Amino acid sequence: MIKREIIEKILENCDIVELINSYLPLKKVGNYYRALCPFHHDTKPSFYVNPSQQLFHCFGCKESGNVIHFIMKYEKIGFLEAVKSLAEREGIEISLADEKEEKKNKEIYEVIKLASKFYQEQLFIYPQALNYLIKERKLSLTTIKEFQLGYAPVGNLLIKTLYKRGFSEELLIKSGLAYKKEKDIHEWFFNRIIFPIFNSRGKVIGFGGRVLDEKIEPKYLNSPETAIFKKGENLYGLYQTRNFLAENKPILVEGYFDLLSLFDKGIKNLVAPLGTGFTIDQARLLKKYSEEIIILFDGDNAGREATKRAAEIALKVGINPLIAFLPDNYDPDKYVKEKGVKELKKIICFPYDFIDFYLKISHPKTISEKRNILKKLGEIINFTCDSTLKELYLNKISEIFHIKKEQVLNIFKEKSFSVFNVEIKKLEDQIINILLVYPKYSSLIQEYPLEIFPEEIKELIKIIEDFKDKEKINTGLILEEIKNEEFKKKCASLSFSSEVLISNIKEKDFKRLLDKYFYEYLYNKLTSGESNENILRKIVEIKKNLIKGGK
Ligand SMILES: [Zn+2]
Repeated sequence: MIKREIIEKILENCDIVELINSYLPLKKVGNYYRALCPFHHDTKPSFYVNPSQQLFHCFGCKESGNVIHFIMKYEKIGFLEAVKSLAEREGIEISLADEKEEKKNKEIYEVIKLASKFYQEQLFIYPQALNYLIKERKLSLTTIKEFQLGYAPVGNLLIKTLYKRGFSEELLIKSGLAYKKEKDIHEWFFNRIIFPIFNSRGKVIGFGGRVLDEKIEPKYLNSPETAIFKKGENLYGLYQTRNFLAENKPILVEGYFDLLSLFDKGIKNLVAPLGTGFTIDQARLLKKYSEEIIILFDGDNAGREATKRAAEIALKVGINPLIAFLPDNYDPDKYVKEKGVKELKKIICFPYDFIDFYLKISHPKTISEKRNILKKLGEIINFTCDSTLKELYLNKISEIFHIKKEQVLNIFKEKSFSVFNVEIKKLEDQIINILLVYPKYSSLIQEYPLEIFPEEIKELIKIIEDFKDKEKINTGLILEEIKNEEFKKKCASLSFSSEVLISNIKEKDFKRLLDKYFYEYLYNKLTSGESNENILRKIVEIKKNLIKGGK
């Protein structure tokens, strides 16, 4: 990964008009520049460059982005190469972000590495821990070693050992190995089996821990988040299984032991989320390996619900989720133990797609049940940013329900109309547009409940919040951080369509827009049957404000 400052520098220094003009002749029209699009067969110039926002966008093929995207697309090279080439052109020195990050957090990496080694050694000193893994969990020594499993004993032994080696109390707390309560320092893990969590470069960044004494809660505990450990951004097992993920589809399992026990039995294309649910960032991480994943969760209610959520997350990033369907009340481990690996492999090799899974768990019979399922499926399929995937699902639904495709679309629209009507979509686009041009206004959004906004706006806010130097943010930089390709294109095209409309937007104008949005949102809730005192009161309150503020 390239450090963000380098990208900022490139975007700051490299003028998009100059750059693109050196590849194809641009002609000035009004505030923009225009050319025949180099990315599709263009007969009338539909390729536009916006100098004030340093973006290009083609209204024909919808290709768009900043200078980096242009070079990637035009030269048919990857991101890294494009950045290097532009940096060279502008005389900017680059160094790799990963190296710098590791240098910066060197001490944390070092102490975590020692802790991991310590836990591994303890496993062989405490027979109850090793026995648990070998006898109860039936793991082989090879797997135990490969994943560097360990044991955290009681008695602050780790702290004592690390003190002896000259590490400070402050560092132990910073790295999540210990915490302070009143004046005393305590170890984060004790009497637990330890699962080291690795980053993609094979460095331990944190741990998961499982109790040995079943009476103790919580059963599973992770390291707290630290400068190097972010739960939602890492997947358990990925470092050890990465070479198996590209040839076979990644199988997503629920927990540490599901992963270890299947790995032990020769099924190796596995990853697991870290205690939290499957996150968008984790899904994006997996997308680098495959466009499809197989979800293999427990066959109980909680597992089925978690499967639905994970599938929805996968769809959002354009991954096609397949579901390996375990019979009721089986988890992968239990299934293997009772039926054998061969039978489990059959389930994995013939997974359900999302629609079949949904029908299987809800088996609608009456017309109204079917109608409800259709609407629900429509909602979920709408999540995906991948238009081909959407189309394929649409065809399948039309086949299964024996309904013409146009009719399916109508039913989907009905639903989306009641939840997100046209007005709301329009307001959303305006909010996105203003945030792109006036990122500093993102602070005004904090006054509203975050859940009322769609994922796209939430992502935008997060990106803006993550910038340290708020003065430097510009549209090109924000675009660089957006991971959803469809959304990126939308942002770029928005920035062309209504520039005139959003010049000179004041804080109070934006607040008014947010009020309007909140009003529409609540109003929609009301009309879709979700009325209660609170919503009504809030609606009246906002309406009053809106009237006070003029038209
Ligand atoms: Zn084009």
